Amino acid sequence: MSMKVIKTADANQTENIAEIIGGNLRGGEVIELVSDLGGGKTTFTRGLARGFGSPDRVASPTFTISKVYKSGSKEMHHFDFYRLPQAGLIEHELADVLTDKNCVVVIEWGDVVQHVLPEKRLTVAITQTDDDGRELKIKCADELSYLTEGLS
Ligand code: ADP
Ligand code: MG
Repeated sequence: MSMKVIKTADANQTENIAEIIGGNLRGGEVIELVSDLGGGKTTFTRGLARGFGSPDRVASPTFTISKVYKSGSKEMHHFDFYRLPQAGLIEHELADVLTDKNCVVVIEWGDVVQHVLPEKRLTVAITQTDDDGRELKIKCADELSYLTEGLS
Protein backbone atom coordinates (compact mmCIF):
# COMPACT_ATOMS: atom_id res chain seq x y z
CA MET A 1 0.00 0.00 0.00
CA SER A 2 1.33 3.44 -0.92
CA MET A 3 -0.07 6.83 -0.07
CA LYS A 4 0.29 10.19 -1.78
CA VAL A 5 -1.12 13.49 -0.58
CA ILE A 6 -1.77 16.16 -3.18
CA LYS A 7 -3.27 19.60 -2.63
CA THR A 8 -5.34 21.26 -5.32
CA ALA A 9 -6.34 24.92 -5.47
CA ASP A 10 -9.42 24.56 -7.67
CA ALA A 11 -11.66 22.10 -9.49
CA ASN A 12 -9.53 22.16 -12.65
CA GLN A 13 -6.47 21.04 -10.72
CA THR A 14 -8.43 18.18 -9.17
CA GLU A 15 -9.61 17.14 -12.64
CA ASN A 16 -6.06 17.30 -13.96
CA ILE A 17 -4.73 15.04 -11.20
CA ALA A 18 -7.54 12.58 -11.90
CA GLU A 19 -6.82 12.75 -15.63
CA ILE A 20 -3.28 11.47 -15.04
CA ILE A 21 -4.64 8.49 -13.13
CA GLY A 22 -7.31 7.99 -15.80
CA GLY A 23 -4.62 7.82 -18.46
CA ASN A 24 -2.94 4.97 -16.56
CA LEU A 25 -6.07 2.81 -16.39
CA ARG A 26 -5.87 -0.50 -18.24
CA GLY A 27 -9.26 -1.99 -17.38
CA GLY A 28 -10.25 -4.07 -14.37
CA GLU A 29 -9.36 -1.41 -11.76
CA VAL A 30 -11.57 -0.22 -8.92
CA ILE A 31 -11.44 3.35 -7.64
CA GLU A 32 -13.29 4.39 -4.51
CA LEU A 33 -13.91 8.09 -3.88
CA VAL A 34 -14.57 9.31 -0.36
CA SER A 35 -15.61 12.81 0.73
CA ASP A 36 -18.43 14.88 2.10
CA LEU A 37 -21.13 16.13 -0.23
CA GLY A 38 -19.56 18.65 -2.63
CA GLY A 39 -16.07 17.41 -1.83
CA GLY A 40 -15.22 16.78 -5.46
CA LYS A 41 -15.85 13.08 -6.14
CA THR A 42 -17.83 13.68 -9.33
CA THR A 43 -15.33 16.35 -10.39
CA PHE A 44 -12.54 13.80 -9.89
CA THR A 45 -14.48 11.24 -11.94
CA ARG A 46 -14.74 13.76 -14.79
CA GLY A 47 -10.94 13.89 -14.95
CA LEU A 48 -10.69 10.10 -14.71
CA ALA A 49 -13.04 9.67 -17.67
CA ARG A 50 -11.15 12.23 -19.74
CA GLY A 51 -7.82 10.50 -19.07
CA PHE A 52 -9.46 7.16 -19.81
CA GLY A 53 -10.30 8.55 -23.24
CA SER A 54 -14.04 8.83 -22.94
CA PRO A 55 -15.82 11.78 -24.56
CA ASP A 56 -19.01 10.97 -22.62
CA ARG A 57 -20.50 13.56 -20.30
CA VAL A 58 -19.81 12.83 -16.65
CA ALA A 59 -22.51 13.78 -14.19
CA SER A 60 -23.57 12.65 -10.78
CA PRO A 61 -25.42 9.34 -11.13
CA THR A 62 -27.22 9.95 -7.84
CA PHE A 63 -30.67 9.31 -9.28
CA THR A 64 -29.71 6.54 -11.70
CA ILE A 65 -27.13 5.03 -9.32
CA SER A 66 -24.86 4.03 -12.19
CA LYS A 67 -23.61 5.56 -15.43
CA VAL A 68 -21.31 4.20 -18.13
CA TYR A 69 -18.64 6.15 -20.02
CA LYS A 70 -17.22 4.40 -23.06
CA SER A 71 -13.68 4.52 -24.37
CA GLY A 72 -13.21 2.28 -27.41
CA SER A 73 -14.01 -1.25 -26.27
CA LYS A 74 -13.57 -0.31 -22.61
CA GLU A 75 -16.09 1.09 -20.17
CA MET A 76 -15.96 3.13 -17.00
CA HIS A 77 -18.87 2.31 -14.68
CA HIS A 78 -19.60 5.17 -12.28
CA PHE A 79 -21.67 4.26 -9.23
CA ASP A 80 -23.12 6.59 -6.60
CA PHE A 81 -24.81 5.04 -3.57
CA TYR A 82 -25.63 8.34 -1.86
CA ARG A 83 -28.33 7.85 0.76
CA LEU A 84 -29.09 4.28 -0.31
CA PRO A 85 -29.59 2.22 2.82
CA GLN A 86 -28.71 -0.90 0.86
CA ALA A 87 -27.45 -1.57 -2.64
CA GLY A 88 -30.24 -4.03 -3.54
CA LEU A 89 -30.25 -5.25 -7.14
CA ILE A 90 -27.51 -2.79 -8.10
CA GLU A 91 -25.16 -4.92 -6.04
CA HIS A 92 -25.45 -7.65 -8.69
CA GLU A 93 -24.66 -5.17 -11.44
CA LEU A 94 -21.67 -3.99 -9.43
CA ALA A 95 -20.45 -7.55 -8.77
CA ASP A 96 -20.65 -8.29 -12.52
CA VAL A 97 -18.60 -5.29 -13.61
CA LEU A 98 -16.08 -5.87 -10.82
CA THR A 99 -15.02 -9.10 -12.55
CA ASP A 100 -14.94 -7.63 -16.07
CA LYS A 101 -11.41 -6.82 -17.24
CA ASN A 102 -12.76 -4.35 -19.80
CA CYS A 103 -14.46 -2.32 -17.12
CA VAL A 104 -13.14 0.24 -14.70
CA VAL A 105 -15.34 0.79 -11.64
CA VAL A 106 -15.57 4.17 -9.91
CA ILE A 107 -17.64 4.42 -6.73
CA GLU A 108 -19.00 7.35 -4.73
CA TRP A 109 -20.57 6.76 -1.29
CA GLY A 110 -19.50 3.11 -1.28
CA ASP A 111 -20.22 2.37 2.38
CA VAL A 112 -23.09 0.00 1.58
CA VAL A 113 -20.96 -2.07 -0.82
CA GLN A 114 -17.71 -2.31 1.16
CA HIS A 115 -18.15 -6.08 1.45
CA VAL A 116 -18.13 -6.45 -2.36
CA LEU A 117 -15.14 -4.21 -3.06
CA PRO A 118 -11.73 -5.83 -3.58
CA GLU A 119 -8.80 -4.95 -1.29
CA LYS A 120 -6.90 -4.29 -4.47
CA ARG A 121 -8.19 -0.82 -5.24
CA LEU A 122 -7.29 2.85 -5.36
CA THR A 123 -8.98 4.98 -2.71
CA VAL A 124 -9.07 8.75 -2.98
CA ALA A 125 -10.19 10.60 0.16
CA ILE A 126 -10.90 14.26 -0.50
CA THR A 127 -11.12 16.89 2.21
CA GLN A 128 -11.96 20.55 1.82
CA THR A 129 -9.22 22.89 3.08
CA ASP A 130 -10.92 26.15 2.11
CA ASP A 131 -13.55 27.29 -0.43
CA ASP A 132 -11.75 25.89 -3.46
CA GLY A 133 -8.86 24.07 -1.81
CA ARG A 134 -8.86 20.31 -1.50
CA GLU A 135 -6.47 17.73 -0.11
CA LEU A 136 -6.46 14.45 -1.99
CA LYS A 137 -5.20 11.41 -0.07
CA ILE A 138 -4.51 8.75 -2.66
CA LYS A 139 -4.12 5.25 -1.22
CA CYS A 140 -3.02 2.66 -3.71
CA ALA A 141 -2.72 -1.12 -3.45
CA ASP A 142 0.78 -2.25 -4.51
CA GLU A 143 -0.55 -4.18 -7.53
CA LEU A 144 -2.01 -0.92 -8.86
CA SER A 145 1.07 1.27 -8.36
CA TYR A 146 1.16 1.99 -12.14
CA LEU A 147 -1.99 4.10 -11.62
CA THR A 148 -0.12 6.82 -9.74
CA GLU A 149 2.73 7.09 -12.24
CA GLY A 150 3.20 10.67 -13.39
CA LEU A 151 1.75 12.21 -10.22
CA SER A 152 4.02 14.71 -8.50
P1 ADP B 1 -19.22 15.36 -4.84
O1 ADP B 1 -19.39 14.45 -6.01
O2 ADP B 1 -18.13 14.92 -3.90
O3 ADP B 1 -20.51 15.63 -4.11
P2 ADP B 1 -18.84 17.42 -6.83
O4 ADP B 1 -17.63 17.05 -7.64
O5 ADP B 1 -20.17 17.15 -7.42
O6 ADP B 1 -18.70 16.78 -5.37
O7 ADP B 1 -18.79 18.96 -6.48
C1 ADP B 1 -17.63 19.58 -6.06
C2 ADP B 1 -17.86 21.08 -6.19
O8 ADP B 1 -16.79 21.79 -5.60
C3 ADP B 1 -17.94 21.51 -7.65
O9 ADP B 1 -18.87 22.55 -7.78
C4 ADP B 1 -16.51 22.00 -7.92
O10 ADP B 1 -16.45 22.94 -8.95
C5 ADP B 1 -16.19 22.63 -6.56
N1 ADP B 1 -14.74 22.70 -6.28
C6 ADP B 1 -14.12 23.83 -5.85
N2 ADP B 1 -12.83 23.60 -5.64
C7 ADP B 1 -12.59 22.30 -5.96
C8 ADP B 1 -11.41 21.48 -5.95
N3 ADP B 1 -10.20 21.95 -5.57
N4 ADP B 1 -11.56 20.19 -6.32
C9 ADP B 1 -12.76 19.71 -6.68
N5 ADP B 1 -13.91 20.43 -6.70
C10 ADP B 1 -13.81 21.73 -6.35
MG1 MG C 1 -20.98 13.20 -6.62
